[in-house]
Amino acid sequence: MVIDKCDICGGKIEEVFALDFKSLFGLEDEYTQHIGMCPVCQSVFTMNPFDGEKLANRYKNFSKYEFDSDADFMDEDYDYKIRTARQKRFIERIIGLDNIESMLEVGAASGYNLSLYSDICNVYGIEPSQVNCKSAKKYYGVDMFCGMFDEYIKTNPQEKFDLIFLSHVLEHIANPCTFIRQCSEINSKYIFIEVPTLDYKFVDEPFAMMFEEHINMFTVENLEVLMRECGYKLIDVDMVMSIQQKISTGFPAISTAWVKCNKDEIKLHKPSFSSYELFSRYIEMSQKEMQRIQSIIDTIENDKKLAVWGTGHHASILMANTDLCDKNIVRIYDSDLKKQGELFAGVKIQPFTEDDIIEKNVDVILLATYSSQEALVRVTEKYASDVRIVTLYDL
Ligand SMILES: [Zn+2]
Repeated sequence: MVIDKCDICGGKIEEVFALDFKSLFGLEDEYTQHIGMCPVCQSVFTMNPFDGEKLANRYKNFSKYEFDSDADFMDEDYDYKIRTARQKRFIERIIGLDNIESMLEVGAASGYNLSLYSDICNVYGIEPSQVNCKSAKKYYGVDMFCGMFDEYIKTNPQEKFDLIFLSHVLEHIANPCTFIRQCSEINSKYIFIEVPTLDYKFVDEPFAMMFEEHINMFTVENLEVLMRECGYKLIDVDMVMSIQQKISTGFPAISTAWVKCNKDEIKLHKPSFSSYELFSRYIEMSQKEMQRIQSIIDTIENDKKLAVWGTGHHASILMANTDLCDKNIVRIYDSDLKKQGELFAGVKIQPFTEDDIIEKNVDVILLATYSSQEALVRVTEKYASDVRIVTLYDL
């Protein structure tokens, strides 16, 4: 799929950046992500996204997370509960719960979020996973349409919802304007949208925003342009910094509330920096950070037996944008059982084993991860007198 026309204005897209990846799990061995931009609408997005079927296959077969899906350092449920509580407070404060009699969540997952509103209003979810739909009913008494949003629209639903809830959904959608217009047909008043943002994206992990599963890169500016085109006015926006959590791919984010309005009555806010300026700055900072990482990789001598730990998004970027590939890589570690035996940069993936250190199979272990570095340091620090452990970040 190549998107060369703007979904908002139909105008021609200009390519503004391209980033190489190597060994993207379950997707491609070699991939160049082309970032395009509409100079009129300021929308920034991937021009050649992976199609939904390919991604669905990946979700099914490989862990979405950088690695260690079963590791105990990541309590996703806890983070999810904090997030949903925060979003509910935002909606209560900005829209008012009394103003909502019915609510629809697209991508309703376990149904937990909707259950927080079920004593206030009628709730309904759209969710592709059958397992989730069944458990939502069983554990939370929440009804869901089991399928994709497009399939729901095809059933020609007559019901209109006061609030449509979209949390970390819109960044995955190839035709966001078409999607919001479809939402509008089944919406009577408000839309809640939370998406990752470039407005306050400091560079922690370089190119983390260039996530292969995301298509759109939002700013308050370009989201407002999109929403106005679909007849929605911004009521309020919150910047979400996810305090005390690792700033992962999806954060910082913006929480936004929108109300239906006549398009001509909507006046756009003027940003201090345009979306293009924010994006360019982000790329510039990421490139600087990659140079710093390259200088660390330069300290690994070519004749040393190197183990690389990590096969996620970040490792794919390192393989394609530094000369890590030219090193003497003898091991690739990942504890994700689903990945074991697969190849990463031509080397078979295996779990870390102490034997490699005892038998002197490796001289250096490079921790090729941002989000899991801390956990891996804890695992590897006891071997620091026998092998050299290389970390890339000061955490
Ligand atoms: Zn446009």
